[in-house]
Amino acid sequence: MLDMFAQTRLQWEALCLELGLPLIHAKTIYRALFKEGHTDLATLASLPKILQEKLRDSFAGNGATIAKESLSRYDGTVKFLIRLGDGSLVESVLMPEKQRITLCISRQVGCAQACTFCYTGRMGLKRQMTAGEIVSQVWLARQWIREHPEWLEARSYPSFASVSNIVFMGMGEPLDNVIEVSRALHILSDPWGFHLALRKISVSTAGHRDGLVAILEEFPDLSLALSLHATTERERSQLMPINRRWPIGELLDFLRAHYERTGTDRSLLVQYTVIRGVNDSERQARELVELLRGLPVKLNLIPLNEVEPSRFQSPEPGSLEAFRDLLYEAGIRVMVRYSKGQDIDAACGQLVIKTKAEESESISVV
Ligand code: SF4
Repeated sequence: MLDMFAQTRLQWEALCLELGLPLIHAKTIYRALFKEGHTDLATLASLPKILQEKLRDSFAGNGATIAKESLSRYDGTVKFLIRLGDGSLVESVLMPEKQRITLCISRQVGCAQACTFCYTGRMGLKRQMTAGEIVSQVWLARQWIREHPEWLEARSYPSFASVSNIVFMGMGEPLDNVIEVSRALHILSDPWGFHLALRKISVSTAGHRDGLVAILEEFPDLSLALSLHATTERERSQLMPINRRWPIGELLDFLRAHYERTGTDRSLLVQYTVIRGVNDSERQARELVELLRGLPVKLNLIPLNEVEPSRFQSPEPGSLEAFRDLLYEAGIRVMVRYSKGQDIDAACGQLVIKTKAEESESISVV
């Protein structure tokens, strides 16, 4: 059986051509599956019988379901534990914000990059996710919102509100899985389906140069988020092993050339997790200013979420402020961002599949 969530509209159109049917049926399928949330496509009365039969015989879902949901008491963030068809578990996080509802999604089961401060990195890479599994996270979150109007109401959203923005910042390095991520981007941004404009989707990377080259060739206007976290090659290689393969200086030169060449109005979101005594000194703030020169940067400083057991600590409030002020005075658009959902382990760097005993301590099920 083929995964219906993994098909681009062009693939549905190819099927229509094969069956000698008008292409409009591809749009009907997309609208029913992604806009209206129907999964029993073979029962759609507006489709010809031959297509209904093909859908029944050859297409199915991929088995992804919400195994558990946890609601933050403080900010309304919802963490979903998603069970994939083979029993693997990943997480996605729904974050209510003023003007939008953002879903942070996973694209790998675990992560191979082993950044030293990241809890997900400790899991190692279990496997890549398919485009259908990536897309299913959005489908499941939208269904969940439909079934929980009280969640919208409590936050003064209109009753028709749904996921409006996607960030690929959950588990895994997206550009390690660039073929499936790229197919997922085509599906998510299709106007007949979820209709999420590319500017509302942000792909985050720890600095995977080959993946960046490939994805920017296909989506030159893609919004990017770069996890930086250090200011010299030596320090970054210690924190993020990926830097040994693709040094940050070369990567930023590549990005400078990309922004110059394309003239895109997208900013580069730079994420900098601030860790006490590791990357929060005045010297490092000055180096950061130099490193980012000439790039259309928005910089988020994220105080480290302390996850036990860890040798890393959150920054002192005073040093964080001084760090931010120095960058601000140098003309950088900088904000301190506190991660959402900290009480449910949904914050950046906290996504990890825990054992049952750990879960019962840290998750309050809705
Ligand atoms: S920070 Fe991102 S790239 Fe690094 S280990 Fe964690 S999930 Fe992987």
